[in-house]
Amino acid sequence: MITVHIPNNHVPERTYIVRTMLSHFCGIETEIVTDKDRKDYELHWGDHSISIADRFFGKFPDGIYYAHTDHLPKKIMQASAVGLDNILILYGDEQLEITRNSIVCHVDLFAGAFFMLTRWEESVNSKKDLHDRFPAEEALTVKEGFILRPIVDEYCHLLKQWLKTLGYLIPEESASYKIVPTCDVDIPFFWSSKPLWKILGGRLRKHFNPLKLISAYGDYRKVKEGIKEDPYDTFDYLMSLAEAHDHPFQFNFIAGGNTRYEGYYAIEDEDIKRLISQANSRGHQIGLHPSYQSYKDADLMKKEKELLQKSTGLTITASRQHFLRFTTPDTWRHLSAAGILEDSTSGYAAEPGFRCGTSRPFPVFDMHQRRELSLIERPLLVMDVSLRFYKKLTIEESIVLCEKIKAEVKKHNGEFVFLWHNSALSEIDGWEEWKEVLEYLMANRS
Ligand SMILES: [Zn+2]
Repeated sequence: MITVHIPNNHVPERTYIVRTMLSHFCGIETEIVTDKDRKDYELHWGDHSISIADRFFGKFPDGIYYAHTDHLPKKIMQASAVGLDNILILYGDEQLEITRNSIVCHVDLFAGAFFMLTRWEESVNSKKDLHDRFPAEEALTVKEGFILRPIVDEYCHLLKQWLKTLGYLIPEESASYKIVPTCDVDIPFFWSSKPLWKILGGRLRKHFNPLKLISAYGDYRKVKEGIKEDPYDTFDYLMSLAEAHDHPFQFNFIAGGNTRYEGYYAIEDEDIKRLISQANSRGHQIGLHPSYQSYKDADLMKKEKELLQKSTGLTITASRQHFLRFTTPDTWRHLSAAGILEDSTSGYAAEPGFRCGTSRPFPVFDMHQRRELSLIERPLLVMDVSLRFYKKLTIEESIVLCEKIKAEVKKHNGEFVFLWHNSALSEIDGWEEWKEVLEYLMANRS
């Protein structure tokens, strides 16, 4: 047991981040004590201590006054001092004093991790992309070029190293490296996603070729007669691949919404019910894919979760927002209020990597209500369309990028959560060669 003394201000924030880092990530039993005369954090056991400088919260009046653009990390430096393991310094400076019984660190590891995990940076920037999302290029991780570094995991690794150096017996790591394949079912079946005339009209606009149109109509007939598989119906392949590698898929289904970005199926459709039942009976997880407008609508989110539960007879506890539409902390709060226990939205469509600075699932903090929610975030690290359309990578370049991410995840016993749409395999949209990337992502090798 380690006693952590913290200053007597910003207690909910400090308690959250100390607990998340030490107990949740490092597995260390901690007792937190507030101390009105204290300025820094002190981890204490026997006659040993680690002091972590407070270079953040102590500067502000109690509350959320810290959440302002003026207080974003100013200059990101990579530490070069011995004992700091090349970590990136968001708050504080590179000074470390090590004696036989104590370590004094002037990098505010807790403020840096709080910054990454709560995403408060996203709440103080009014810039949005086309889908009202925080743009990846505005993120400090992207601007400063460290989106591929799980810096919170690095901080935790460092803390554990210091504890070991001072003789503290660290409990055996309980988390282990895991591959978590997920699939957001936006359009389950190509030929029934819209009225036939609309689909054929779309093909004609795309190819300007009447022969292709005739051949497309021929395909439609064959699918309807059961001679050919629908090009988006790749579920059996996805499930078989996941089963062969022993990593069950999480399939997220849309249960509502009325924008142009959804409505390709209804959750009560018989073929959807059949698909969900098959996936469930084969051991894959069924999650909710809350609709386009749900990210700021608590009632809608709740309604959609209930509809999915009613239609499937399953208890739904996991989700990911459609189009990764998310606003901090509101979306997390609404999900939690709807009874969702695990969300996996926090990745940038435009930038694969570590949006929250970690590859590990973590409890989320509602910065406005100043409390931890009963919701776990499982950060999304890689998505199919990010590689092909946003980053415009080739297949080989995609594999190289994913190799880098996978290696970091493995190093920190994290979860390699990736998203592959069932539609992102079909010849009809030029995805046929991308199977190679999916099979790489699923494989255990890094
Ligand atoms: Zn979606």
